[in-house]
Amino acid sequence: MTERNPDTLMEKIVSLCKRRGFVYQGSEIYGGLAGIYDFGPRGVELLHNLKAAWWRANVYDKENYYGLDSGMFKNPRVWEASGHTSGFSDPLAECRKCNTRVRVDKELAKVGVVADEKMSEKELNDLFDAHRGEITCPQCGKKDFTAVRAFNLLVKTNLGDFTSTGSEPVYLPGEACQGIYLNFKNILDTLQPKLPFGVVQIGKAFRNEISPRNFLFRLREFEQADTQLFIKPHQNKDAYEQIKQDRWNWYLAIGIREENLRWKQHENLVFYAKDAWDIEYNFPALGFDELEGIHDRTDYDLTQHQQFSGIDLRYTDPETGEKFVPWILETSVGLSRMSLAVLADAYTEDDLGGETRVFLKFKPSIAPVKAAVFPLLKNKPELVAKAREVYQMLKKEIPQIVWDDNGNIGKRYRRQDEIGTPFCITIDFDTLGETPEMQDTVTLRDRDTGEQQRVKIDELVELLTKAIKV
Ligand code: ATP
Repeated sequence: MTERNPDTLMEKIVSLCKRRGFVYQGSEIYGGLAGIYDFGPRGVELLHNLKAAWWRANVYDKENYYGLDSGMFKNPRVWEASGHTSGFSDPLAECRKCNTRVRVDKELAKVGVVADEKMSEKELNDLFDAHRGEITCPQCGKKDFTAVRAFNLLVKTNLGDFTSTGSEPVYLPGEACQGIYLNFKNILDTLQPKLPFGVVQIGKAFRNEISPRNFLFRLREFEQADTQLFIKPHQNKDAYEQIKQDRWNWYLAIGIREENLRWKQHENLVFYAKDAWDIEYNFPALGFDELEGIHDRTDYDLTQHQQFSGIDLRYTDPETGEKFVPWILETSVGLSRMSLAVLADAYTEDDLGGETRVFLKFKPSIAPVKAAVFPLLKNKPELVAKAREVYQMLKKEIPQIVWDDNGNIGKRYRRQDEIGTPFCITIDFDTLGETPEMQDTVTLRDRDTGEQQRVKIDELVELLTKAIKV
C-alpha cells in the first residue's frame, strides 16, 4: 500500500471525482460558478447512502427522535431572532492590487493568530493591522489590503418582494436547523413527546462565503444534517457527553479511520453556550479542520423565537406541571464536507499484479455501487444473455448494481475499483457449462484483495446482501 501523500491527495481526489462521475463543477459549460458543485451519478449514490446511514443512526436506531423536512424559505423575522441578520458575518478584506477578497480570520490563522468570533470590527482591524506584514494575498502575493469589514453571509432573495428595490428580502437558509425550532411547538402539540426528545433534519444551507475553496469543503450551497435534542434545563452534561461519543462512533462505523479524526473544543464560547466541540477530520490540503459541530446551546434558540414570535414555546412537565423553555444539544454536519472526508479516507493506491492501481476502499454499506456484473466477452450472445439474467435477478434485490461490458476484464476491474465497487461478478463459459461441475457458477472478485472465488448463482443474493450490510 502506498503512503497517503497530503500534498497531492486533494488533486487526485478532484480528478477522480470528475473522471468517474462523483462530482462536477456547477454550471461547468458556462465556466462554472464559485462555491457550487454538482453531484454526478456516483456521487449522488454515495450521498444517499451517507444520508440513509445518518438517518438510521439518528432516527430509527433511537427512541424519541423525530424527522422533519421544513421549507427553505422562512419569515424574515426568523433570521432576526436567530441573530443571523445582525451577527452572521465573516471579516473580509480586499487586496488593493488584484481585488481578491480574503477571510481575515482564516488568513490570521495561517500565521498562528486567533481572531475571536466575538471581536468587533475595530478589534479585528487592530489585530489585522498588527499582522499585515505577515499576510500575503493568495492570488498575487502582495501585502496591501483594505481595512477589515464584517460581511454578512446570508443570501437574499426577492421571493414575494414586489418592491423592485429589494427592500423586503427573504433569505435562503444560512443553516438548516432553524426549521426545527420553528416546528418545536407543532411536534409537541401533535406527537406529545416527553423530554428528552430529538428532532432531526437534513436540509440545504446557503452562505455567501468570501472565499469558497478546497473543493467540497467550503461551498456556497450545501446540505446540513442536524440533530437537536431538547432536554430539561441543567440536564445537559451526561447527555452532551453521550452525543459526542455517539457521533464519534458513527464516523468509525461508516469506515473513517480513527487516526484521521480528533476533537477540538471551542475556546471562545458565545455568551449563551455552555460548551462546544468540533469533530475535526484530517482533510487533504488543509490538515485537521472542522467536520461536525456539537454544541450545548442552553435555552437560547427557543427563548429567542419565543420573544420574537410572541408564542409560548415552553414545555409543561407532565409530572410536576412546571413550565419551562427546554435546553438544546445540537449536532450539525455538512454532507459535502462529510463526502470529502469519506472520499479522502477511502482513497487508496496499491500494487496489484505489478501495476499501481487506485481504488476507493469504501465500506460496502456506503459504496455507491455494490456490485458490477460482466459477461466475459460482449460479442458472445449466450454469455451476454446469461449475464443479463444474473444482472436482472440481482438488481431486483440490490438496486445499486451496474452492468459493464466495455473493454477487457482488466479495464472493467480498474473502473469499478476507482468507484469503490466492492464486488465484480463475471459470467464466463464455465457458467454456461463448459466445465460441467462449474455450470451456473460465476467468479466473484473482491475489490480490496483482487482475489476471485467461484460462487453458485443461487447463493449470490444472500452472500451479497450480507456483505453489503457491513
Ligand atoms: P466554518 O468555521 O468552517 O465556517 P462554521 O463553524 O460556520 O464552519 P457551522 O455553522 O457550525 O459551521 O455549520 C455546521 C457544519 O456545516 C460544519 O461543521 C460543516 O460541516 C458544515 N459547513 C459549514 N459551512 C460550510 C460550507 N461553507 N461548505 C460546506 N459545509 C459547511
